Amino acid sequence: MLNIVLFGPPGAGKGTQSAKLVEKYGLVHISTGDVFRALDPQSDLAKLAKGYSDKGDLVPDDVTIKILESEVSKHPNAKGVIYDGFPRTTAQAEALDRFLLNKGTSVTMMLSLVVEEDELKQRLLSRAEVSGRKDDADVNIIQNRIENYNKDTAPVATFYKAQSKLTEIAGVGSIDEIFDNLCSSINQLQD
Ligand code: ADP
Repeated sequence: MLNIVLFGPPGAGKGTQSAKLVEKYGLVHISTGDVFRALDPQSDLAKLAKGYSDKGDLVPDDVTIKILESEVSKHPNAKGVIYDGFPRTTAQAEALDRFLLNKGTSVTMMLSLVVEEDELKQRLLSRAEVSGRKDDADVNIIQNRIENYNKDTAPVATFYKAQSKLTEIAGVGSIDEIFDNLCSSINQLQD
């Protein structure tokens, strides 16, 4: 089973590239952000998640890990999964390792999209116009998301680097160029 963690700060292009990778490789796409946004807005879980995400804070690990595990379990016959926006803390990465080990599989690789901060902020503000997302529309919330990324999420790359699973890919250039670079890394692995 191909388990690809697509990593990068908010606005790095994970969602865009995931859609293309899913199509090319026939993988299941799991975005914890999308899962939270798709919950019934009246449910307690949706309200809880929104309380964090609207401020640009991370949803607590226990909740997020449960959501992820239940999402993966919906696809018992998947030939592979792209994890987008998960894991975002080292505790989540450890939980994912345990969960996959239990299933007799493991994270194949982490592809990390590298984009500098000013570019991220520009992209998120432009996305706000189409996404309607509250967390994209406010510079202070964007700043908080980037700070949380640097503090809590960036260490996840170190976690996979220690397992020799990390590949960094420039997240700037055309969408197709970036996609080609991601594909090259995946193809190398399959050779
Ligand atoms: P982006 O990558 O653009 O920041 P996402 O759609 O991936 O946006 O996530 C939106 C929000 O959902 C995050 O800011 C956070 O509050 C919550 N969230 C998503 N994934 C996780 C996660 N793995 N751990 C904790 N919170 C998460």
